[in-house]
Amino acid sequence: MSNIIKKEGYNYSFDASACSACSARCCTGESGYIYVSTQEIEKIANFIGLDTEEFMQKYLYKNGYKYSIKERKIGESYECAFYDRVSNGCTIYEARPTQCITFPFWDYFKDRVDELKLECPGIIDA
Ligand code: SF4
Ligand code: SF4
Repeated sequence: MSNIIKKEGYNYSFDASACSACSARCCTGESGYIYVSTQEIEKIANFIGLDTEEFMQKYLYKNGYKYSIKERKIGESYECAFYDRVSNGCTIYEARPTQCITFPFWDYFKDRVDELKLECPGIIDA
């Protein structure tokens, strides 16, 4: 069953039903930043039952003035620290950062649809 999502201002659509057959290419693969805001840091720490300091030390690193979630290196691939291979899902799904919620509708991809299509099999021409 298809579940097509469109968003104003984007010249592509997203078929969310593609996720079930995809090995979470948006959470794995090439290394990338997974930014979290101060509020998101508190929300995730709370969600997994760690105090903020401990959570930040264990799961985040700083890039400039922003914090990003750490990745694990598996062979030549990288995956988000919260990606679970067994369930092929996100272990902090309910508290995942905005960057993950809004994917694949990022400003960055507005004029880089070909690049996005290589990463996400759910992208279709609008
Ligand atoms: S890369 Fe696209 S199709 Fe695959 S899990 Fe992520 S959003 Fe879904
Ligand atoms: S926080 Fe969850 S949705 Fe976001 S990259 Fe990590 S595993 Fe994927």
